[in-house]
Amino acid sequence: MKLLVPVKRVLDYNVKPRVKPDGTGVDLANVKMSMNPFDEIAIEEAVRLKEKGVATEVVVVTIGVAKAETDVLLTARAMGADRAILIQTDDEVEPLGVAKLLAKVAEEEQPGLIILGKQAIDDDSNQTGQMLAALLGWAQGTFASKVELAGERVKVTREVDGGLETVDLKLPAIVTTDLRLNEPRYATLPNIMKAKTKPVAKKTVADYGVDVSPRLKMLKVVEPGKRQAGIKVGSVDELVEKLKALGVAK
Ligand code: AMP
Repeated sequence: MKLLVPVKRVLDYNVKPRVKPDGTGVDLANVKMSMNPFDEIAIEEAVRLKEKGVATEVVVVTIGVAKAETDVLLTARAMGADRAILIQTDDEVEPLGVAKLLAKVAEEEQPGLIILGKQAIDDDSNQTGQMLAALLGWAQGTFASKVELAGERVKVTREVDGGLETVDLKLPAIVTTDLRLNEPRYATLPNIMKAKTKPVAKKTVADYGVDVSPRLKMLKVVEPGKRQAGIKVGSVDELVEKLKALGVAK
């Protein structure tokens, strides 16, 4: 069975975002970009399923700038993906546009399972997997903390408020990864060197004939308010008095 893993290139999670002076977005010039952390978890899960012998091929796909080929798609292949697809665009594509493109890729590639991150840490949309499931008419298991693939079905354990929920889906299906699904492996230097020989198919948005025009208009982006400096208290009693005065303790 083939597994498809969509990955997004985002501002590295260790970088403090800087808002552009005109408030139109986050400044991405000359900052470290990396694979969305939830997508690393998705690749890890897919590669483990291949290593277990329940999947035969792992294909990664990204919609983004040309540079994605030599960073995120290389990392993905070094982690164990067999080949990559780059749908190149310099424009920001919203989750609905991404889902429409991924639906076309799914029609071409016919994967048994698509594993996405639950959300991209740049826009925190948490929409693409769900929209893709709706467009394809496939079952979805979101926020997965365990994935068990057997025959024509996949069991997905989901982290919900009340505990753990397990759903049993018929393949083909969509899974989105939560933080505790696994710990992704590092892309080692020898594997990065080897990954350079794994194929990357280059496409454009026009190749898929879908409308990815924006539906949203960004009004403004502002920095979060600065935290005020705290104060040190001399004793627990003093702390309790202060909390009472603030109305957060009785
Ligand atoms: P979002 O709905 O934007 O929070 O993204 C959820 C997931 O959709 C990500 O973790 C990726 O797996 C996938 N995704 C979002 N944007 C892209 C993109 N431009 N290219 C490939 N996959 C994407």
